[in-house]
Formats: sequence, C-alpha cells, structure tokens
Amino acid sequence: MRSTMMDVPLTITRIMQYGSSVHGDREVVTCTADGSRRQSFAETGARSARLANALRALGIDGDQRVGTLMWNNAEHLEAYLAIPSMGAVLHTLNIRLEPEVIGYIATHAGDEVVIVDPSLVPLLAQVLPHAATIRHVLVTGAASEADPAQVAALAGPGREVHSYEDLLAAQSDTFAWPDVDERSAAAMCYTSGTTGHPKGVVYSHRSMHLHSMAVNSGGVFGIAGHDRALPVVPMFHANAWGLPYASYMAGASLLMPDRFLAPAPLVRFIEAERPTVAGAVPTIWNALLQHLRAHGGDISSLRIVACGGSAVPHALMEAYEKETGVTIVQAWGMTETSPLGSVAHPPAGVTGEDAWQYRDTQGRLICDVEARLIGDDEVPLPHDGVAVGELEVRGPWITGAYYQDDDPAKFRDGWLRTGDVGTIDKFGYVTLTDRAKDVIKSGGEWISSMELENALMGHPDVIEAAVIGVPDERWGERPLATIVLASGATTTAVELRDFLAGQVPRWQLPERWSFISEVPKTSVGKFAKTRIREAYARGDYEVVEAR
Ligand code: ADP
Repeated sequence: MRSTMMDVPLTITRIMQYGSSVHGDREVVTCTADGSRRQSFAETGARSARLANALRALGIDGDQRVGTLMWNNAEHLEAYLAIPSMGAVLHTLNIRLEPEVIGYIATHAGDEVVIVDPSLVPLLAQVLPHAATIRHVLVTGAASEADPAQVAALAGPGREVHSYEDLLAAQSDTFAWPDVDERSAAAMCYTSGTTGHPKGVVYSHRSMHLHSMAVNSGGVFGIAGHDRALPVVPMFHANAWGLPYASYMAGASLLMPDRFLAPAPLVRFIEAERPTVAGAVPTIWNALLQHLRAHGGDISSLRIVACGGSAVPHALMEAYEKETGVTIVQAWGMTETSPLGSVAHPPAGVTGEDAWQYRDTQGRLICDVEARLIGDDEVPLPHDGVAVGELEVRGPWITGAYYQDDDPAKFRDGWLRTGDVGTIDKFGYVTLTDRAKDVIKSGGEWISSMELENALMGHPDVIEAAVIGVPDERWGERPLATIVLASGATTTAVELRDFLAGQVPRWQLPERWSFISEVPKTSVGKFAKTRIREAYARGDYEVVEAR
C-alpha cells in the first residue's frame, strides 16, 4: 500500500523562501572593522534573487559550480541561498589552503564563477594561475575596499572581473526559482586533505534539508526563532557545521564574524550582538579563554557552544562552565557527514558531575546516523563501550562516494569508513581514542593519544598538548608529548609525568617530552600530527627524557 502523502522535495530553495518570508524580520549581522552591518532575512532573500539573476546573466543556467572564497558574512550567506536554489552547485573553497591546492580543488570541481571578498583578492590572484576553469570573478564589497589594480589584474584571457554590488544593483529582486530535484547536487566541499589529497563531497538538497532539521532538533542544538547563532567555524569548513541553513530555517538571526576571529574582536562582537548559540573548534575557544582570563569580557549570552572537529579537552569545557557559566557541548562529525553525526548531551536525568562521563565523549548518535564498529578481523564488534574498532557510519546526510574520485578504501558495503577508532556504548555514545593513522602501538598494545592529550591539557600550566607515536627500539613505538606551556610557566617533564601518573596506566606514560612554542595546525585548526612527526624526524624538537 502506498501512502497518501505528497512527495514534495526537501530543498534549500524551501529553506530560503521560508526563512526570507516567514522569518523576514530576523537579521544577518556582519562584523566589520568599525562596528556591525546588518540586513534582514527579507533583504537577504531579495539580494539572493538578485544574485541568482546576475549569475544567470553570466551563463549559469544548470548545475555549473560557483565557488566562494569568502569569510563568514552576509554575502556568503546570499551565495549559500541563491546558488543551490537556482539549480547550480555552491562550492565553498577553503581559504587557508595553499593557493595551488585551492586551484587544484577549483579545477577538479570545475568552478566557472568565483565570488571573492575584497580582503581575499590577493589570495585569489595566486590561485587563478592554477584554476583554468574560472570564467568570472565577482568581487564583493564597496569598490574602495580592494586595491583597484589588484582587482583589475584578476581578469585574463577568457576571464572577466565584476563588482558583486554593481551586478546585484542591475538585477530584479525576484527570481523564478526552478523546481529542483531533491537528490540533485546543491553544494560541495573538499576534505581538508589531512589524510591524502583533498576529495570532494557533494551534498544534495535533501541531505542539507534533513541535516538542518536535525541541527534544530532539541536533542542536537535546539535552535529556534529566539536564538542568535554565531558560526565562528568557517562556512568553508563542512558548511559551518550546518549552522547557516539551520538558522535560516529556524528564523534564528545569524551573526557573522567575517575575518575578525582573534579573541579581542570576537569578544567585542559577542558583547555587542549577544549570540545564544555558537560553534567553533577547540583551538578558537582555547584562545578565547586565555583572552577572557587576561582581559575579562562578557560572553554570558551564550546558552550553548558547539565544539568539535577534534577532541574537546575536558579541562576546556570545565573552565568555561566554572569561569563563564557557558556550556560547551562536544559534537563529532566530518566533511563527509555534512557534518553532524553525534552530540554529547547527557542522557535524561543525569546532571552535575555525573554528566561529565557523557559530555566527555564524542557524543550520542543522532537519529538517522547509524554506526558500527569494525574490528581487526573485519567483523562488527558489540556496542558495549569496551570493544575498540573503526567507526563506520551511514545515513541520509553521509556521503557514499567522492566526486570523480574512486576511493574504495573509504567505503565498505554501503558504509563510510571514518578512519576514527573508538567504542560505542549501548546507549549510542561514541568515544574516540584516535584517528586510525595516529594510533600509537607500544609493545603490541594501543595507547590513546587523545586520552593522554586530554589528561595533559587538564594541567593548569598546559595550554596545548599533542601526542604522537615515535619509533622506539624496544617497544616499536612510544608516545612523545609535545607541550605548549602558559607564558611564564616553568613546569618540567618530570612534573607533568607525575601529574599524568594517577590518570593513565603507568606503561602509557611518555618518556619523551618536548616543550614547543606552538602546535602546528591544519587549515581548519586541528593539530597537524603529520607535521609534528616530520618536525620530530628532522630533529627540530629538543626532546627531554623523563622516566
Ligand atoms: P579532515 O578529515 O580533513 O581533518 P574534517 O573536518 O572532515 O576534515 O575532519 C573530520 C575528522 O575530525 C573526524 O574524522 C575526526 O577524526 C575528527 N573529529 C571531529 N570531531 C571530533 C571530536 N569531537 N573528537 C575527536 N575527533 C573529532
């Protein structure tokens, strides 16, 4: 028997039309060098229609790719709304990658148009020699914001440069939005390439729509019309974790930090605009915490801070709770998973200190994200919170392939192999111990680098701790702890080893320690363990022994 329900497509167009009308009075606020600029959702919808008309005039009439090289701002949101809704494909380019890599990614995706912020014009100039498919460049902002000579130099044979604002001004603020197939491509994002060369993930209208509903659900972030959402996580990093679309759907005003991500301007923006929800990687919250400790500041408007991308140190969450009253909620996800897969809210009735055993995990699986653990002999392991295996996931917002790139090693029988290793308990809480490529195998036993890092970052003098496995004659591999101490601190390796002693088994305690000024980071702010390993192998680190 078939249902009697209508088969109406789940699209971004719907999110755009709903948000722009029903929530037309909500606002998009963008941080600038001198205060905030703001526009309503209604205006954002109208400007999105102008953008769609402008792109149509430039020949975008199908599923061509339109790239963005942009910070989080109102224009980037317009691109998020207009491009998929007109049937084209939004491609968010990671501005923190090397220009050649950005060019490789733009070429691989076949980007024909790129929208760029004035402050990123110099970067685009370095990208273009590697990006032959780009025919049109749209520069946002007032003409005065970019160097006219640099803007003019973006043009070349077969490539025109336009002012975004001039193009929009010449267009109508209505657009005949087509009926798009919910399974068609809406947007794409390349993995940051921490594990090999970047690979393209293509999101559908349906996957984005469902993911937005999940983000807004009470068991995830519960975003609603009274919220003001601050995506600090870049819109080129896994869709800013879905916050822009989810907020637009919920009618939550969007607060965009643009390029002002340093702690001081970020605190000023938070104090001025009073966000209730925010999302960023641990590195950002760590830097913000150090700033608040040194200079003060009021971030009390935040009711929930989403944090993930790498393991969230317990000490960081506890410090926020105690020192600012702000709750950090850990979440896990990947570019391949849109990104949200699990969120670490404690179960019903568990509060206070007892809640930490759940809040310290990578989170409870969201409905529609199914997970299994695969052990060494390739069979599924029990979800008992003990058995350790590789996490595999599947679901309606999880990619089943990469764009024009066969990578059979990443998929198994319709499941995505995450490359993350850990446990799942019977209530669906996932606890990761490592990424598969970072695990440390000492004398045949696994040592969890994440557990050591988490414990070390609980020491009051430790700002950052990254642990890697290094070759060892006797044990095959042993952990090396690289430590960034708070300025002025003189804590020794022996003291840190003693501090760890009560928290992890003795045989796991690192003998090798290195005090460094900064942990190298990837383009999305994670510890770049490959670079730490390379630096160690080159002998760049001074290593002290503590036994
Ligand atoms: P890349 O794979 O290029 O680093 P992603 O941002 O897609 O880019 O990274 C996804 C990975 O980030 C996950 O597979 C996992 O290893 C890590 N990750 C994300 N959230 C968490 C978390 N809460 N705890 C530990 N690791 C996390």
